[in-house]
Amino acid sequence: MNNEQPRKARINIAFISQLIFLFLFLILFVTTEYRGKDEISIAINSFFRANPLVTASYLFAEKALTWLLLPGVLMIVFSAILGRFFCGWICPLGTIIDMATRKIRKKGPIRMLQGNVKYYLLLPLLFAALFNVNLAGILDPIAILVRALTFFLYPLLGYTVRSGWTGLYGLIGEKRDFIEPAYGFIRDYVLPFRETFYPLAFLSFGLFLFILFLERYESRNWCRNLCPLGALLGLLSKFSIFRRRPGKVCADCGQCADICPTSFDSEILKKEECILCMECEVKCRFHRVNFTLKRPKGAVAKEAPPVMERRVLLGGLASGFFLSRAFSFSSPSNQERLLRPPGAQNEAEFLKKCVRCGECMKVCLKSALYPDYHKAGLYGFFMPVLIPRLGYCEYNCNLCGQVCPTGAIPNQPLEKKKKNIIGAAAFDKNHCLPYAKKIDCIVCEEHCPIPEKAIRTEPVEMKNFEGKTVTVKQPYIVEDLCNGCGICEYVCPLEGKSAVEVYAKVKRKIKQ
Ligand code: SF4
Ligand code: SF4
Repeated sequence: MNNEQPRKARINIAFISQLIFLFLFLILFVTTEYRGKDEISIAINSFFRANPLVTASYLFAEKALTWLLLPGVLMIVFSAILGRFFCGWICPLGTIIDMATRKIRKKGPIRMLQGNVKYYLLLPLLFAALFNVNLAGILDPIAILVRALTFFLYPLLGYTVRSGWTGLYGLIGEKRDFIEPAYGFIRDYVLPFRETFYPLAFLSFGLFLFILFLERYESRNWCRNLCPLGALLGLLSKFSIFRRRPGKVCADCGQCADICPTSFDSEILKKEECILCMECEVKCRFHRVNFTLKRPKGAVAKEAPPVMERRVLLGGLASGFFLSRAFSFSSPSNQERLLRPPGAQNEAEFLKKCVRCGECMKVCLKSALYPDYHKAGLYGFFMPVLIPRLGYCEYNCNLCGQVCPTGAIPNQPLEKKKKNIIGAAAFDKNHCLPYAKKIDCIVCEEHCPIPEKAIRTEPVEMKNFEGKTVTVKQPYIVEDLCNGCGICEYVCPLEGKSAVEVYAKVKRKIKQ
């Protein structure tokens, strides 16, 4: 007879940690925004800097590391010692999955997702990085979550609250002034600075919804079968010395196999899948489960399988190579208008460093940056491009460099940032009013922020279309002064296409 006593319900500290990190994540998300100050001291970039997948892919692509990713290196070391605690204690996407889908009845595993699928996603990403094509950000779980929030949910929240506030005025009139302080707080500290409609918003949100939808089949379906970060942490955790005891279910109970969200394959615990959520320890009625640094007796041989089958490794290497070639193609005709954020001077370097987190686009003061979907081919997907007709780079702003987690956009002092060259403006003389219609227009010249003026005008005497002699101020660009900020293209009063456009310089450089 079993004389062990049922244990009292205990608090799961892993769950408390999940709540704390989710809260921290959301706080950092809303602070990564222009809030009237020129500096953003804390930002969501911390979650990317501590991300092992971002760190590993950066290291493989750059063949070097940056001190910015030091937390990611530490996270790799800790994961090799402790196991996959990131997934069960920190990952905000994992926590949202747990919280949003806890009550969903599971239909059972999807057979085609089981087995090595996640390694067939992780390895090509890492090997493609070795061939200088860094694609990890496309499937990185933190990047997927931040993009869904930045491009879709956050602007939607801002739009809904602001239009609701306006609608309230129609309903209760000036009585709404009683709640003005509450609205003022939300506007200043929670809502986005402005609502921007981003291309790829629906795709970004759709990817996030797809991950939630997978929960219809089994718990943490994304985490156990697809997530490349989870796969990397699983590989690291094969070396970990922190483990659950016992390593399989007890013959007289077996409840942990039902409680566990990820790790049991029938009766055996798969160490690389264990996310250390501690549910089995907290809920074990007989005090039998614990997590320890000691090895279970007699389990040494069983727990040391090869880190990876050779065919998976070779398959990953080959597909990484093909992926890197396929993603490298981009049409030269799109490149002339391929403008990157200020400071991203070397396109090849920028492509290797950008993790597609969307933070630069989120903080861009004048809504100049948007996720790309065609200009730089497949490789540039979700990376920022500057579209001057929609917004321009503010001369006195360097926020994007402040929040970029990997240094793809360097964090430069304002005076240095002003000297970065994004592109060069050029007039379309068939379109520009002083040239085409022979009438004055000095809008672009007035807005040019360069103190010495990179757009100037010269008076030219000519005959207008009625045959009268007139003096028209014709604008021209001073190439050595223009930094390609795009404000001239943005403010050009013509409908549709602007008469002055910014073109990429093949090699972006810094003004001396
Ligand atoms: S498997 Fe991926 S999404 Fe899931 S918890 Fe781990 S890192 Fe987050
Ligand atoms: S360039 Fe923008 S999208 Fe790319 S990593 Fe930096 S902040 Fe993120």
